[in-house]
Amino acid sequence: MRQKKSIEDVEVSGKKILLRADFNVPLEEGRVRDDARIRAVLPTLENLLDRGAALVLASHLGRPKGRPDPGLKLDPVAERLAELLGRPVRKLDQVAGPGVAEAIGALQSGELLLLENLRFEKGEESNDREFARQLAEPVDLFVNDAFGTAHRAHASTAGVAEFVPAVAGLLMKKEIEELSRCLENPQRPLTAILGGAKVSDKITVIRRFLELADQLLVGGGMANTFLAARGFDLGDSLYEKDLLKEASSLIESAEKSGCRLVLPVDLVVTRALEPGGETKTLPPQEISGDWKAVDIGPETVKTFSRYLSQAAMIVWNGPLGVFEIPPFDEGTKLVARAMAASEAYSIVGGGDLVAALEGLGLAGAVGFISTGGGATLEFWEDKELPGIKVLQDKA
Ligand code: ADP
Ligand code: MG
Repeated sequence: MRQKKSIEDVEVSGKKILLRADFNVPLEEGRVRDDARIRAVLPTLENLLDRGAALVLASHLGRPKGRPDPGLKLDPVAERLAELLGRPVRKLDQVAGPGVAEAIGALQSGELLLLENLRFEKGEESNDREFARQLAEPVDLFVNDAFGTAHRAHASTAGVAEFVPAVAGLLMKKEIEELSRCLENPQRPLTAILGGAKVSDKITVIRRFLELADQLLVGGGMANTFLAARGFDLGDSLYEKDLLKEASSLIESAEKSGCRLVLPVDLVVTRALEPGGETKTLPPQEISGDWKAVDIGPETVKTFSRYLSQAAMIVWNGPLGVFEIPPFDEGTKLVARAMAASEAYSIVGGGDLVAALEGLGLAGAVGFISTGGGATLEFWEDKELPGIKVLQDKA
């Protein structure tokens, strides 16, 4: 991966800067319920304001599909941001246009304002060139700190860079550095853990980790598809029938690569996917009928934990069971504890896994938590993310 310029490599004093952040936060009764994404951008904001820049902040929120939606205005974000920064944050009711240009014109060094939800404009998601030009027009520099949206080629993540120099914010820079660690010169043994619902979402990442890692531990619904490909009848478990060939081919690749593919040896099964439903622990060959595998079992946890205790680096995407419904979060919880107890450096990505770890109070045990879901997966797939590609290369 080519090195990208960040705000640390450019002069910002006296400049007007368009800063694309990912303020796509959950709202509840007109308030921000979880401000983690806002806090993640604070170092970039403080750095730029302290160095005398004037900031125009822009973000999307939810899926308003190109027209204004009163429930998705960014006012709650402005309010929370002002509290966190301890300075006033002016919020505009438009994204672009004459009023916006005027407000930006009057903006002074050390001040900031927040534009309205970018996705109120059709041109945002269609990466309309004229809309991108309008966004860029009143500013001198574009800073992209929205890693979670970097896999989308939208006007505010990619299009603007045609009209104004573009560099990474501190969060973007950190994401690139941290997520690259397992791709370039990983510490060994490198243990990768993959879970989540489907193989089909993650085929390329599975292949990539089979090339890179010393072991690939698989759990979640994804493991069911692999076990089915090995010929087990998994009863009523979630698995992808149309992916059995692909899964067999991945198992074959693993046999040829130096990576050990580790599948569950026991599974927690239930007939009713509800809290407190009746459960049993079975080896894959004993599952049948209307039983569904919804978590990894204790023997599998033991095996996974042994690998983690010997690892030098751990990367993990996707929960190992239906963590939303306790007790089917047990496997994810115990493996997270084993990761915390290991001396290995750990890197975790994926919306649902991160939510699971936060819910379990185990997020603090991770070396680095990515703010991206889809973006993190695409980064690990070695895809060139549009929002990163457009940033200036370091000389
Ligand atoms: P991430 O967002 O971390 O990448 P995914 O979106 O791929 O993770 O998958 C998360 C979903 O996978 C969760 O909703 C979880 O309930 C589901 N899941 C995990 N294990 C199973 C299983 N054995 N059966 C059905 N669903 C599962
Ligand atoms: Mg998910």
